Amino acid sequence: MDSRYHIITFGCQMNEADSDVMASLLDQAGWTAASDASDADLVVLNTCSVREKPEHKADSLLGELREMKDERPGLSVIVTGCMAQREGEALAKRSRWVDAVLGTRCFHHIVDVAGRVRRGERPIVITDLEDDPAKVRCGPLAEVRQAPLKAFVPIILGCTNFCSYCIVPHVRGAEASRPAAEIIGEVRDLAARGTREVTMLGQNVLAWGRDLPTRPTFDSLLSLFDDRSAPGIDGLWRVRFLTCHPRDVNRELIGKVADIPAVCEHIHLPIQAGTDKLLRDMNRGYTVDQYRAVVGRLRAGIPGISITTDMMVGFPGETEQDFERSLTVYEEIGFDAAFMFAYSPRPGTPAAERTDQVPKKVRVERLNRLIEMQNRITVERNRWEVGNIAEVLAEGPAHKGPGLLEGKTRTNKHVVFPGDRRLVGTLAQVRLTEANLWGFRGEVAT
Ligand code: SAM
Ligand code: SF4
Repeated sequence: MDSRYHIITFGCQMNEADSDVMASLLDQAGWTAASDASDADLVVLNTCSVREKPEHKADSLLGELREMKDERPGLSVIVTGCMAQREGEALAKRSRWVDAVLGTRCFHHIVDVAGRVRRGERPIVITDLEDDPAKVRCGPLAEVRQAPLKAFVPIILGCTNFCSYCIVPHVRGAEASRPAAEIIGEVRDLAARGTREVTMLGQNVLAWGRDLPTRPTFDSLLSLFDDRSAPGIDGLWRVRFLTCHPRDVNRELIGKVADIPAVCEHIHLPIQAGTDKLLRDMNRGYTVDQYRAVVGRLRAGIPGISITTDMMVGFPGETEQDFERSLTVYEEIGFDAAFMFAYSPRPGTPAAERTDQVPKKVRVERLNRLIEMQNRITVERNRWEVGNIAEVLAEGPAHKGPGLLEGKTRTNKHVVFPGDRRLVGTLAQVRLTEANLWGFRGEVAT
């Protein structure tokens, strides 16, 4: 069979990892990747519902695909991911040119469904929230999965936190952890084939294990990467993890990050808001003081750790005073970097039902003020590091110009430096010479 597929991915790293799974399964079934939708027999649109904007973008892309399909009726269109899960049958009804809709835990059906669509069966809608991660992740994807220098490895699916603004628990189902042996097996296989850095993924990785029969903890999973006390993982240099819920950071985690050489000194710890009122209304499960205390313990226990975060402005009921209070808290904590969002009402979430929505204009204006402040702090903090020598995993040629390489520090900061292509795939010692918003310029230290 010479059939070509193209996957378009919106959203977070979890979606990227899910797209990887689908690509691997299609490759294994004899499909070939096409670099462009116009070149493909099958287009998969892997969608995101976390805010309104990515849903709008997916809708406009669906419009383009409709035109493509008018010209080439043989083209198959499959919509997957959060928007597929959220809308299900309704999506197939309102976009009649869509051949199949696959929810967030149905990726393992991709080959079967693509085959059925080709045989004329349509529309197919599958949105079961399968609770066995082994099926969803298709077991270890060892033989088929590509092994890039850096890879994402999902360790827990779903979320059970139900923050009042968030669609994720509704579209990704309850927490379901992969067993440690399966995770380590996948990482070992990736490392054997050239992966040097893995990022373990989950909406809250610190919840990992709670649903497994022996209730292992996330810090016990980290211990398996410590080659002083465990077999370790040959060839793997760096371990990262994303995202951490502030409520679940404990002494054991801090100890393991500080102690295990492969585990990198970076934590992504979304704060979301800087007043107790907003945090309570968001159902985040911590106060500003508790968050501050966690940051204090992280900085005391893990020298040089970088702390990044997510911040949201314009949550229902947020007054100008609340917003300014949040800015003060953020400035005082001093984050290395942040993803910043204007609140976007998501249908079916409690926050969307509230009658005290903040006008869009105000949300946008607050977001701009927040970005301006955080950008200044990011540059200031980066400046403190100029002159230091950092370990950088050289990932490849930099987009910033010829003769330049780029990579990340252990603290997950971007570095661009002149270097020979032969350095790609190695750990370089780089002196940081110039700080920017995006990271650093540097030079290889001899
Ligand atoms: N599980 C992660 C956590 O708890 O931090 C984050 C998952 S979510 C995909 C990523 C970020 O999107 C959140 O941290 C939040 O800041 C933002 N987000 C979620 N729902 C949102 C909404 N309705 N409007 C705007 N931003 C939202
Ligand atoms: Fe959404 Fe909260 Fe779960 Fe993160 S922890 S995915 S913000 S519900």
